Amino acid sequence: MTTPLSPILSPNGEGAQMPSPDRPIVIVGSGLAGYTLLKEIRKRDAAVPVTLVTADDGAFYSKPKLSNALAAGKPAAALAGASAEKMAAEQNATVLAHTRVCAIDTQAQRIRTDRGELDYAGLVLALGADPIPHGLQGDGAADVLAVNDLADYAAFRAAIDGKRRVTVLGGGLIGCEFANDLAQAGFAVDVVHLGAWPLERLLPQEAGVRLADGLASLGVTWHFGRTAQRVEHAGEGYGVTLDDGATITTDVVLSAIGLRSRTRLARAAGLATGRGIQVNRLLEASVPNVYAIGDCAEVDGVVLPYVQPLMVQARALGATLTGAPTAAVYPAMPVVVKTPAHPVAVLPPTIGAAGGWKVECGDAGVCALHLDAAGQLQGFALTGAETGRRDALLKALAA
Ligand SMILES: Cc1cc2nc3c(=O)[nH]c(=O)nc-3n(C[C@H](O)[C@H](O)[C@H](O)COP(=O)(O)OP(=O)(O)OC[C@H]3O[C@@H](n4cnc5c(N)ncnc54)[C@H](O)[C@@H]3O)c2cc1C
Repeated sequence: MTTPLSPILSPNGEGAQMPSPDRPIVIVGSGLAGYTLLKEIRKRDAAVPVTLVTADDGAFYSKPKLSNALAAGKPAAALAGASAEKMAAEQNATVLAHTRVCAIDTQAQRIRTDRGELDYAGLVLALGADPIPHGLQGDGAADVLAVNDLADYAAFRAAIDGKRRVTVLGGGLIGCEFANDLAQAGFAVDVVHLGAWPLERLLPQEAGVRLADGLASLGVTWHFGRTAQRVEHAGEGYGVTLDDGATITTDVVLSAIGLRSRTRLARAAGLATGRGIQVNRLLEASVPNVYAIGDCAEVDGVVLPYVQPLMVQARALGATLTGAPTAAVYPAMPVVVKTPAHPVAVLPPTIGAAGGWKVECGDAGVCALHLDAAGQLQGFALTGAETGRRDALLKALAA
């Protein structure tokens, strides 16, 4: 459907300009956030000029599939969907792949890339997040891998090809998912985790212990309360030295210790940043006509590095950029951990919520309800077969 073009909105009504071929809406990033926004704009406006600029090859892919592709029998190449050219044709947009944005001139409304400059009417930063540097010592430290995009995943698959042992650093969501996938595919997996149980910031102990046991039943060896310090070449593989002096002998080391929003570009341009690029519920940054969504965005003080929030953000911003200012309003968004050995679904209570966990452990799993002093449900953590109660609990929360 083609609708008349509306001027891009700005927080103070400053500098609002009609997008044009010379000054389009510019989206930076071709991850799920960037491409979902492009599709949302197109649902509402078939013609408004949009240029998507991305440092990578611009192929569409679903990042969550990276941590269960072994079990799904998918090689890295099979995870790439439509190419940049196909996305551009399908979405009637210009897609500039292999193009890195180096600077933003917010006064002139212009970005500088490593392939030239581009003016924008509205600029959307969908830059994602970087793996936190592992800081390991030793002559093998440079070989430690992290998987945060399709190219990383292709390198990881090449590294584990013909190998048997993988050491995963970090027992958070991504570490647990890779541990499950690798163990299920027959690898001997060690997980080094600083916490006393996996996902300790999301799960009460009983639920975390069940998840750990589920993965252990697949053959995963846990090293709780430990950090890795050094990685040294040892024969064909590596020795990973822990802070208690113990050494794990392994073929490949995968770091999954967390991600950090990409804020440097925005900070250098004078945008307000904290844990992410700070935006309000309209996804507006601190300067006119600049927006941020996805893993790089701190929306109303919170970074939510998951798919469902970015979908909500993209839908809202797609409406705003086509003339209908719309705030991002989240429904209850449970996090599902892809660990078939012992599945987990968790809806964390809001940060700072008073109350506590009421935990029931059965043979099939754990049902933990986060309740306030009046017994009101605030969140939940479900494991194993108890994950089947997720929808009923979401309904109870909405009531
Ligand atoms: C292994 C793994 C499994 C996951 N599983 C789940 C799951 O099951 N459920 C869930 O909800 N979430 C999951 N997540 C999180 C989810 O995938 C992310 O929240 C989401 O994909 C982030 O999308 P994004 O577009 O914000 O960032 P990204 O996908 O990282 O995209 C960022 C884009 O910005 C580009 N870029 C960055 N800097 C520049 C620059 N200067 N110039 C030009 N381009 C630039 C990059 O090239 C890239 O195209 C998982 C994450 C990982 C790593």
